Amino acid sequence: MAQRPYIVGNWKMHGTRAMLSEARAIDRAAQRLMKVEVAIAPPYTLIHPAHREADQISVGAQDCHHADGGAHTGDISAAMIADAGAKFVILGHSERRQGHSETDATVKAKAEAALEAGLRVIMCCGESADTRKSGNAAAFVENQLRGSLPETIDSASERLTVAYEPIWAIGTGDTATPRDIGDMHAAIRALLVELYGEEEGREIRIIYGGSVKPDNAGEIFAVAEVGGALVGGASLTADSFMSIALAAAETVDA
Ligand code: PEP
Repeated sequence: MAQRPYIVGNWKMHGTRAMLSEARAIDRAAQRLMKVEVAIAPPYTLIHPAHREADQISVGAQDCHHADGGAHTGDISAAMIADAGAKFVILGHSERRQGHSETDATVKAKAEAALEAGLRVIMCCGESADTRKSGNAAAFVENQLRGSLPETIDSASERLTVAYEPIWAIGTGDTATPRDIGDMHAAIRALLVELYGEEEGREIRIIYGGSVKPDNAGEIFAVAEVGGALVGGASLTADSFMSIALAAAETVDA
């Protein structure tokens, strides 16, 4: 792994200010684990306070709107989350694609807006259980990424991360097998090289998400082309989240 493993917590719609103590504990533990890049994406309401508490970890958002501003009741722009202290944004999560009818084109417009606002982007992709059963998972993910990723990104390897998250593995306790993860990450790598060129495409981190827990993290991080994890449920306590970060640190040469 050329870049440091990237371990990102997606808090989803969990957390009030009481959760800031977990953010502080994650930040303290991350200061002792410099081999790993640790980040959390709390709900919008906690971005600014979590950012103020954080010395080591970066804080990001779980979504943003594609417009700069205007009559979009209930939405929030990339510039607004950056102003609140966000350094990155998760885009195209399956819970957004399914629950908010986000198309590839919507996700791409959001990614362009986020990059324009100076944010890094974690682009999610992943197939349903039916698509995997039909044998079309790789083609589906490739199409989804072709439709969702911006054509050009300056310093793509620094500013873009792809998160492969099979939908059927999110929050279910089921994880993809190491072999399936390896095959999919290799297919995504080939696409990134095609889209962004050999130099940048080889360095863009591809992380895995879907029921990553302290007890399966080591096995997942041992898979070639796995550059970290996007973690939902297990990121809600510092103990379980940082156990996953520790498993990632153990894959890095001393
Ligand atoms: C996620 O929602 O991004 C996720 C991977 O969730 P979980 O770890 O709970 O499966």
